[in-house]
Amino acid sequence: MADAPKKLVVLGCTGSIGDTCFKVLENLGDGYEVVGLGGGAKVAKLIARAHHWQPQKICVLDAEARKQVQDAVPHAEVVCGQEGLCELATMPEADLVINGLVGAVGLAPTLAVLAQGKTVAMANKEPLVMAGGLILQQAQRGGGTVLPLDSEPNAIWQCLQGENRNSLQRIILTASGGPFFGHSREQMRDITPEQAIDHPTWKMGPKISVDSSTLMNKGFEVIEAAWLFGVRVEQVDVVVHRQSVVHALVEFADGSLLAHMGKTDMMLPIQYALTHPERREVPLDNLDLKQVGQLSFAAPDRANFPCLDLCYEAGRRGGTFPAALNAANEEAVGAFLTREIGFLAIADLNSDVLARCGTQEAVSLESILDEDRNARRLAREWVAEQTG
Ligand code: MG
Repeated sequence: MADAPKKLVVLGCTGSIGDTCFKVLENLGDGYEVVGLGGGAKVAKLIARAHHWQPQKICVLDAEARKQVQDAVPHAEVVCGQEGLCELATMPEADLVINGLVGAVGLAPTLAVLAQGKTVAMANKEPLVMAGGLILQQAQRGGGTVLPLDSEPNAIWQCLQGENRNSLQRIILTASGGPFFGHSREQMRDITPEQAIDHPTWKMGPKISVDSSTLMNKGFEVIEAAWLFGVRVEQVDVVVHRQSVVHALVEFADGSLLAHMGKTDMMLPIQYALTHPERREVPLDNLDLKQVGQLSFAAPDRANFPCLDLCYEAGRRGGTFPAALNAANEEAVGAFLTREIGFLAIADLNSDVLARCGTQEAVSLESILDEDRNARRLAREWVAEQTG
């Protein structure tokens, strides 16, 4: 008898991760069923997804969208807001929750999945940055599992299969360098949102694309990797690798390095998270190393991309510092995308807000959310001073 289908809930189903996730599910064919869908502002796309995948429950942004979706998908139960998101994440039918949300909004549903002892596959890195300790504690307590969906942590996870974690000495994350690699500060002054969103090797949503262009995304991955793989941030290195062929490396006690290489397509990490330890075919051309020709590695430009070191600083200081940095950055990127502040101001704002935030040693969900609110307030004041 065939195994019962794996039942999935997809949070952030109309975003870039959602798009790839459904490509993977179509590729895998039978064996997977979508029981819950969560979507944001793209209501028409959410309705189309619901018609195709026939989920039992749908979560939307607000009451207005709820009515619209309920009328279009009468057979499904439609819920809304943060509470609805947690309800969706804890559907008793679900075997696996894919968290493709963007930003801090993904924290509560992640904790809710883990409290039930279930598995959450995380593409949403902000919750791990702001509250990695709490998330892992919750996983341990509830018996749940966190699987990394993002390409770099997913690559590390693959490199560590069958290895003794105690001999892991260092993690090396690769960074494409983003669209402004090699730019001087002067050249970066007038960068527009359109330019920042146009990433050279990965196709992603606007928030993560801007974070990639400032190297904040890489810094967040440093903090994320430290939590996920039980190392200190000082044990996570970043190298610029323009080809984006090597996604991450691990170094063991004997100095041996294992690298994960592959196409720059999110289908690979997402499908691995769904099928591991099995591997299935992916409808992509294989990587042709002769065509790649050369792999280059270089030190990141820490002076012109100060967001990277802000992440190391926040990660080292611990406590609520990473939450403060994450919140400041969400506000900064938002203000940049609406053209309230310039590109270089993103790092300036983050640095100023971080300097004005205190750390609280004992990290609880309350203290993290308090600091999140505090940093957002400081960030908005900073923007108001600039534009006022
Ligand atoms: Mg990544």
